[in-house]
Amino acid sequence: MNPWIGKAIILASSVVMVLIRAPYGQRSRGVKVVRSRRSALESVLLTLAWVAFFVPLVWVATPVFSSADYPLRPAPLSAGIVCLSVGLWLFARSHADLGTNWSITLEVREKHQLVTHGVYRALRHPMYSALLLYSLGQALVVPNWIAGPSYAVAMSLLFAFRLGPEERMMLEEFGKDYEAYRVRTKRLVPGIW
Ligand code: SAH
Repeated sequence: MNPWIGKAIILASSVVMVLIRAPYGQRSRGVKVVRSRRSALESVLLTLAWVAFFVPLVWVATPVFSSADYPLRPAPLSAGIVCLSVGLWLFARSHADLGTNWSITLEVREKHQLVTHGVYRALRHPMYSALLLYSLGQALVVPNWIAGPSYAVAMSLLFAFRLGPEERMMLEEFGKDYEAYRVRTKRLVPGIW
């Protein structure tokens, strides 16, 4: 199959992702941060995630990764489109539910509220589930050994080191309410983990 199909899909998905986040990012910036738990490791992993987000776009626009290309096949392409679509839907829903409580890193904002409704009813980290699903979709539609899995690797690393500290921060902030919320929900996969 023509690799330009994968290139067009990844370009469109990246634009949709940026468009979903932009208005929430803008609104959150207007709400003061009262506590930050951003560690040096978190900063390094966040930078890595940004770089990894752009790697597929470099693959689309330039031949720098072309030596790692492989043929695009219909089955992974179809599965990838499903992952990207569900991932983007969940990304939009989690932003809508989290509202101005959203931060790019570990932060508590002024008048921070514990969100337990919408997609947060079943999962504590639906936005991370969305990003992992999106990154899996990307790995499936980008037929390149570097640009395909780059975002999945970076996001897995970021979330592996973030979930624990984020939950500790929320527990300190919301005490018993977060503890009760933790008992009745899963982290990333509904009903499983
Ligand atoms: N981990 C969540 C949120 C990602 S944004 C998810 O994947 O959906 C990261 C910020 O969201 C954290 O700094 C924290 O302040 C905030 N946060 C995380 N869970 C929250 C919740 N249930 N209610 C309100 N804010 C939350």
